[in-house]
Amino acid sequence: MPSAEISLTINTQETEEDILGPLQEELSACIQCGTCTASCRNAQLMDFTPRRLWRLVLMGQTEEVFHSKTFALCSACYYCTLRCPRGLPLTDAMNTLKQLGAKKNVAEYRPNARFYGSFLESVRRHGRINEMEFMRRYFILMKNPAIPIKFTPLGIRLLRKGKISIFPDKSKTERPLDQFFQRVEELERQQ
Ligand code: SF4
Ligand code: SF4
Repeated sequence: MPSAEISLTINTQETEEDILGPLQEELSACIQCGTCTASCRNAQLMDFTPRRLWRLVLMGQTEEVFHSKTFALCSACYYCTLRCPRGLPLTDAMNTLKQLGAKKNVAEYRPNARFYGSFLESVRRHGRINEMEFMRRYFILMKNPAIPIKFTPLGIRLLRKGKISIFPDKSKTERPLDQFFQRVEELERQQ
């Protein structure tokens, strides 16, 4: 497959082996038994099953791996990790793919990265999620007016039921988790 189709922001010094190499090492003991797929409640929504995704990782198929929706749909339930007969860290591997997808600005993963980023920024600012602020941030980052329009009926239903509020909770604006987030950012820079 031509490399021009790869939508990763790849450092020119970085080979595809550099990207998937550490994961390939972690998953090298996979025997393709399919227990991870059979254990995954989200597998029917995924384009590649977990078993197939690991096979693609081991074969170094970077483009297929990062064009896949599979890792974005992993809800980190850890069921596959608990059941893998080889004891492989499968949920961590899914998380690694999410991190790589965000770091390398993979086009398919961009909406997810913006969703997670907006969610975490709201938690950082308030110590908990502020739904209205979180969705506002996400909509602005997505720059697509069709998205808020699509969510409007749901927003109105949630407002009517008192599940969300238009006005921010003033008592939760002291950024109580700032130190914690800063420490995580420091650790990530050291990696
Ligand atoms: S359960 Fe473990 S060994 Fe079996 S296919 Fe999945 S990753 Fe491979
Ligand atoms: S951790 Fe992810 S891949 Fe594994 S079973 Fe749960 S949702 Fe599926």
